[in-house]
Amino acid sequence: MNAGEPLTKLGPEAEMADTRIKGDLLVITGPSGVGKGTLVERIIERVDHLKQSVSVTTRPMRPGEKEGQSYFFRTRAEFEAMVKNGEFMEWAEFAGHLYGTPRAWVYEQLNEGEDVILEIEVQGAKQVHSLYPPAVLIFISPPSFEELEERLRLRGTESEEKIQQRLAKAREELLERNIFQYEVVNDVLDSAVTKLVHIVYAERYRLNTA
Ligand code: 5GP
Repeated sequence: MNAGEPLTKLGPEAEMADTRIKGDLLVITGPSGVGKGTLVERIIERVDHLKQSVSVTTRPMRPGEKEGQSYFFRTRAEFEAMVKNGEFMEWAEFAGHLYGTPRAWVYEQLNEGEDVILEIEVQGAKQVHSLYPPAVLIFISPPSFEELEERLRLRGTESEEKIQQRLAKAREELLERNIFQYEVVNDVLDSAVTKLVHIVYAERYRLNTA
């Protein structure tokens, strides 16, 4: 880039240097079934200037889900084309399906001073961590592994095979939680929400990220 040229590009090279990025990027991660989705819904209700990114997925729509609200539902070919075009901030394969975070929307919001929450699985969270080190990584743990298994079964949305895949993945993910800055155990919903709200505000008042 030439001196004096306006910094308009928001690719990985610009991410760290661009002082216009004003919002916090918060990444909520943890095993499938731990209740990340409900927690995020509740935090968004309680905190202003905090928005959730809507991911793209190749997973089939579940009853009650809506295009553009729960996810953007796409075919594998469409998803792969988006990967080629560099449209994702991060993406990962999870239990046989692809999931990704649209890059442009996230940076637009951060630049406008909004805080953004990504609710994603652990591989994606690790990608965000290396691509964008100021991101605040929060790991949601189940009170116990048995409880997680029960929650996945109660949800009743997956076949036994898929439940087993998700449980195996959860065992791996629980081993990786030490790389994150915060851990919140989702034992009692209201108290977990309060802890997360405190984290969001604490990060807003932080003077530097070093
Ligand atoms: P589900 O199929 O239950 O909606 O989501 C499965 C897993 O994918 C969950 O752990 C969820 O947090 C994660 N996920 C949802 N969107 C994304 C995304 O954009 N990127 C990544 N890496 N994971 C995602």
